[in-house]
Amino acid sequence: MTLDVGWALRWVRGSAEVVAEHRAELIELDRQIGDGDHGENMHRGFTATVARLDALEEPPAQVGDVLKLLATTLMSTVGGAAGPLYGTAYLRAAKVTGLTELDSAAVVAMLEAALEGIVARGKAAPGEKTMVDAWTPAVAAAVAAADRGEPPAAVLAAAAEAAADGVEATIPLIATKGRASYLGERSAGHADPGATSTALLIRAAADAAAR
Ligand code: ADP
Ligand code: MG
Ligand code: MG
Repeated sequence: MTLDVGWALRWVRGSAEVVAEHRAELIELDRQIGDGDHGENMHRGFTATVARLDALEEPPAQVGDVLKLLATTLMSTVGGAAGPLYGTAYLRAAKVTGLTELDSAAVVAMLEAALEGIVARGKAAPGEKTMVDAWTPAVAAAVAAADRGEPPAAVLAAAAEAAADGVEATIPLIATKGRASYLGERSAGHADPGATSTALLIRAAADAAAR
């Protein structure tokens, strides 16, 4: 059982759908502790990515090609903190997935590379109420699932579940990175928008693998 370029395309298109469905929710979360644009930023980036995929004359050959197109589009179309962070994540993920088929170890390497990219770019540690608080447990759960010998789809499902738990765990936290940190203690009591979008995107990866 491996994941191919068809999975990557379903992931990106599924991500665009889920971001569109949750656009208002992401805006509302960011309105609570930021500037209210996260849903719009993400929606713009994924809409542009789907448009670029639709315009390709040749379908992408490898998983890494799809992730690279996503990364460069997010970097050039999404403003704010999330654009460069997700752009770096997907670019690092693209670099370790220059393969046509991903096994569980390759899925783990992809998720690890994404998290490393986010940390390299944003310098946030776990517990600072950012998307790192969804990615970190997701990577840990993926590693554990792969170590148990689970197939790629189950590795992604475990990561998605852990990311969602990570979102819940951001609620009581006080933000110390990004815009939400300007609120200080008043940032507590709300889920982090970027962690929330991360959980949606990893769930989309798992759903694309389950089909
Ligand atoms: P902006 O805050 O610039 O308006 P967005 O609203 O699109 O950008 O994204 C906000 C999200 O970005 C936050 O909810 C948080 O998850 C994430 N974020 C902000 N700064 C950092 C950072 N230094 N490291 C990791 N994630 C961050
Ligand atoms: Mg914002
Ligand atoms: Mg903004």
